[in-house]
Amino acid sequence: ALTKRQNDWPPALTETETLLSNSFDANSIDDWAEYYGSQVKLAGLGKEAAEWTRDKWSSNGFTSSLNEYQVYLSYPKHQSLSVTYANGTSSPINVQEPALAEDEVTGRPDSIPTFHGYSASGNVSAEYVYVGRGTQADFDRLVALGVDLKGKIALVKYGSIFRGLKVKNAQDHDMIGAIIFTDPGDDGNVTVANGYEHYPSGPARHPDAVQKGSVLFLSTYPGDPTTPGYPSVEGAPRADTSKVTPKIPSLPISYSAALPLLQALDGHGKTAAEVNRTAWKGALDAEYRTGPAPGVKLSLSNLMEGKITPIWNVIGYINGTNPDETLVIGNHRDTWMIGGTGDPNSGSAILIELSKAFGKLLAGGWKPRRNIVLASWDAEEYGLVGSTEWVEEHVNWLTETAVAYLNIDVAVSGPRPSLDATPELHTIATELMKKVVHPNFGGFNISLYDAWVKSSGGEVGVLGSGSDFTSFLHSGISALDVGSGGGTGDPVWHYHSNYDSYNWMAKFGDPGFHVHATMGKFLSLLAYHLADDEILPFDLPQYTKELKGYLEDLSELIGSEDVDTAELKSAIDVFETRAKEVKALEDQAKLSGDEELVKVVNHKYRDFQRGFISQGGLPNREFYRHVVTAPGLDTGYAAITFPGVSEGVQYGNLTIAQEWVSKTAKGILRAAEILKT
Ligand code: GLU
Ligand code: CA
Ligand code: ZN
Ligand code: ZN
Repeated sequence: ALTKRQNDWPPALTETETLLSNSFDANSIDDWAEYYGSQVKLAGLGKEAAEWTRDKWSSNGFTSSLNEYQVYLSYPKHQSLSVTYANGTSSPINVQEPALAEDEVTGRPDSIPTFHGYSASGNVSAEYVYVGRGTQADFDRLVALGVDLKGKIALVKYGSIFRGLKVKNAQDHDMIGAIIFTDPGDDGNVTVANGYEHYPSGPARHPDAVQKGSVLFLSTYPGDPTTPGYPSVEGAPRADTSKVTPKIPSLPISYSAALPLLQALDGHGKTAAEVNRTAWKGALDAEYRTGPAPGVKLSLSNLMEGKITPIWNVIGYINGTNPDETLVIGNHRDTWMIGGTGDPNSGSAILIELSKAFGKLLAGGWKPRRNIVLASWDAEEYGLVGSTEWVEEHVNWLTETAVAYLNIDVAVSGPRPSLDATPELHTIATELMKKVVHPNFGGFNISLYDAWVKSSGGEVGVLGSGSDFTSFLHSGISALDVGSGGGTGDPVWHYHSNYDSYNWMAKFGDPGFHVHATMGKFLSLLAYHLADDEILPFDLPQYTKELKGYLEDLSELIGSEDVDTAELKSAIDVFETRAKEVKALEDQAKLSGDEELVKVVNHKYRDFQRGFISQGGLPNREFYRHVVTAPGLDTGYAAITFPGVSEGVQYGNLTIAQEWVSKTAKGILRAAEILKT
């Protein structure tokens, strides 16, 4: 239901909020998007865009510089694929995305070819099996049905989980290669089959669009795979990467390339009905049978070049009057293609405009209470590399001073806003959404809040992984991630494809760049309040509420299993009491204006998340340390709450689950203790 807001519409803004908000100009954002959309920004190759970003931020008043790390990356040398049929004929499968005459950037000689970051080099030739989305559950099902996987190549559909885990699951089942394809069944109703024209003539997906992306096994740790837990500075010792990078080669392909491969399996192996898994069947004209088809083989050739090479984050500072509190706002800059106008140039363009807005405040003599750090991360795409190395290098200072990390990655790939955050930030984030005007999917203006309720149902999501907030969150720092995407009726975004271009964005994604401006206004209001409110606008009772919700979910998961959550429940009760007390202290501090008291409350808010960090880390992944939330082991992206306990139950290890009831409870008690007044 939409909230009625006749009385406070248009929203009332303070003078500073108005200045920030009015500073956002859709035309300027369009210019920045056009600039970023024409640069090579593949990790380690994007120094020019880094310098440009530094110069823009500097001219807007942020003291900015490049921050270099030496990290392990891999680049494509040669990729090819062919299919051989039972009668012996063979034909090449196109793995590259054709240049489009209407979209100039896709035809540039420096276009980035199709590949998987950190994929294994290798030439393999074998029969192949369609394995659905390649989740652990998909594979369990195939094993149960007796489908022959060993020595075969996996034909996998994109979706649901992080692509690296698809390759890992194939490898763990003794398969020797993986081909991951995009299926138009995931494009809602805006498909060629439903009569829409494909890009560049219309809003449907181009049939030859390919999703590139990293296949790092990042469920173990994010960042440079050669430096787990410490920064990739010059001379850093290098760890063996063989546990976190695939041993089997893989390639991504388009749906037009996948069609004949699926069709060649028609009539062979288990039927989709026999497999009986959700989303098993896609929208292509094929039976989606498992195969293998006797004598029908794929030949996959993947040659990669791995090297330790420099990457460049850009870091910009404004010093606050209060040096022991710091707000970090970040967005990655690297892309798999020259464009990347959704991912992440929409966020990068917004950060330029945000620096301009804050520059106006600075020009008027304003100095924020807290330090503000702006970050443009490199090598996010390979595995959150730039942000993780920076956090690892600065972890002591961040632990001492960071109040929150705000992330913006795909700020816009469609009109529907989404928000994930740690619970203490829910209230301020949703309240500020009411102060921003949204173009309302082309209708008359409404608030960003109402647009968000419309598209998300009004629930703030739980942070999992998949972007640069991860290393902050798992260092015990409050965090938030905001963006907006498309729904079933919206133009289809070409995620990680050369067709995620400026031209696509200007024509279909966000003509006029109004959604960009909306998201930017929101982020700058949020940054302003977190950086300058006398007392950090944190809602601790909301954290209690969420903890209780997570406990309910957990109880449901446990069902009749023998796991006792009493210790967790009583820890949440203690947290609840402390959260109420600190709220009362905040009221008192506000009323009295007592500076010492204000500082005490701010520091409790700044620090309480540190308590959630478990020193040894979660089971089998020591660098994911937050006891309340983590990316699911089998998802890579989506969050799982009380991960130690939940995954103990999910994987049938009740001893671990019980042990983690206790460890999780202790983390919550540590956080409560920090809040204690
Ligand atoms: N956002 C990138 C992707 O989805 C990187 C994700 C990650 O490494 O977690 O491929
Ligand atoms: Ca590292
Ligand atoms: Zn991104
Ligand atoms: Zn990406």
